[in-house]
Amino acid sequence: MRTKNTTLTPRNLTKKSRGLIRSLNRSFVRDDKSPQVVRKTVPPKEPNVCARCGAVFLHKTWRHDHKLTDELLERRQWGFCPACDQVSRQEAQGRLIIRGSGLAKNRALIRSRIENVASHAMATQPERRIVSIDTINSKDDEALEVLTTSQKLTHRIAHELKKLFGGRASYNWSDDGTLYATWEFERSKPKAKKAKQPGKGR
Ligand SMILES: [Zn+2]
Repeated sequence: MRTKNTTLTPRNLTKKSRGLIRSLNRSFVRDDKSPQVVRKTVPPKEPNVCARCGAVFLHKTWRHDHKLTDELLERRQWGFCPACDQVSRQEAQGRLIIRGSGLAKNRALIRSRIENVASHAMATQPERRIVSIDTINSKDDEALEVLTTSQKLTHRIAHELKKLFGGRASYNWSDDGTLYATWEFERSKPKAKKAKQPGKGR
């Protein structure tokens, strides 16, 4: 059957074409049976509240500071924000490896700095999150591996650590947008030169 190319105004909307439009709309609604790849690209209905972290999806963005009116609260739906989704799947967009002789002595300080940077980021951008912090073996030595949901957060963490402690940071972006960063933190010069230390550090 051939149809004329007419615009659909309320007047010429037949019962049939209304039904067609409705079914087209329905194909954009999240379907839990659809594959994960597809689900990820479908925005949730607004407002949506993340059951894990409390972020709110409104005006097409996930934020922790969206204000919900009573009317919006009544219509809210529960779901998971992309970051919580990623964290639960242990999916990372950024990977930072921390190594060097300075790591062992400053482990607690380094960790708290990382968590600090991450919690700052999360306040305004909930999709930027730490996936995991683990001790791993790297080059016969212990290293710290930090995985994040966002390459930007990984970059930020490496940058802040370098700013605070010194050392050397390197950044390697892949074509797929993921970042592999390293931060080498050497505590001081080799022990052979300890006589030269001017009373600072150990
Ligand atoms: Zn969440």
